Amino acid sequence: MVIVMKKDAKREAIDRVISEVTTLGFTPHISEGESRTLIGAIGPAPTPELREHFGAMPEVETVVPITKPFKLASREFRHDDSFVMIGDVKTGNGRFVVAAGPCGVESREQLAAAARIAADNGARVLRGGAYKPRTSPYSFQGLGDEGLELLAEAREQTGLPIVTEVTTPEMVANVAATADMLQIGARNTQNFALLAEAGKSGKPVLFKRGMSTSINEFLQAAEYILSQGNPNVVLCERGIRTFETATRFTLDVSAVPVLKELTHLPVWVDPSHAAGRRSLVPALALSSAAAGADGLIIEVHAKPEEAKSDAAQQLDQAEFASLMGRLKSVVQALGKEF
Ligand code: PEP
Ligand code: MN
Repeated sequence: MVIVMKKDAKREAIDRVISEVTTLGFTPHISEGESRTLIGAIGPAPTPELREHFGAMPEVETVVPITKPFKLASREFRHDDSFVMIGDVKTGNGRFVVAAGPCGVESREQLAAAARIAADNGARVLRGGAYKPRTSPYSFQGLGDEGLELLAEAREQTGLPIVTEVTTPEMVANVAATADMLQIGARNTQNFALLAEAGKSGKPVLFKRGMSTSINEFLQAAEYILSQGNPNVVLCERGIRTFETATRFTLDVSAVPVLKELTHLPVWVDPSHAAGRRSLVPALALSSAAAGADGLIIEVHAKPEEAKSDAAQQLDQAEFASLMGRLKSVVQALGKEF
């Protein structure tokens, strides 16, 4: 349930509710709104008596049960859009952000060139995998710690905060010490130990939907991060598996408005991994923005044909520049800041 405090409720009243929530065996999650504090009480389904009990406490406005299996992510917990800060970059609640960069960090020169393309064309976040989860153990696995150092250098040079993938719970603390945002990939959407560890780090998390994860399962998985006290979750649709083979995955554009109905969290789309082919990326990117996404993550490479992973889907300088120009018009037509 969510206990909604009265406008400008006093600190003592808020603290009393929090302590009562804890005493009665629930875990409190506090959300400070502009003038109102919400206290989520997560635990067993509350009885009507219990709701009445909290409703009668001083300076409590109302008590709202959360009917969904996902609690902290739900619009019942928080009605208004939330936003997430990636370094000093805001996403969500009317702020549209593009993250761009190579699939994998391959070398200093390769990353620097891709980071330039990203920064010069209006991307606000730099992506790049240092640890790559590959389908085959014989494929390029990423540069690991060296890749992280190169990302930190590219951040110095461009001023862009960096997002990079974590693939095991054990590596989270190390990657979190360098990255501005942790990416959890489609192959780890239900790696609950990894999600909990990313939650504990407190870092913003770019949380991708698994290729066979339903939206309901996706949002419940997000609770593993949120329930650790980390509210900084950005959800990302990146294509699901269907019978269709003309694209690498089928981009579920409907996931965007469906998620926006169900959750207050920012929703991004990754058109690159859905498309699998660069010629399709712009159309998927533009349609995702039009569907209401709060951001995009796009793969770019100065020489896509030489990329060590996902060569077919990375945009080059000209393709990315052209897409960003058109994207700006779509985003601004929706009344959002680009
Ligand atoms: C990636 O972003 O490089 C990646 C591996 O994406 P996904 O987890 O969506 O396949
Ligand atoms: Mn990739």
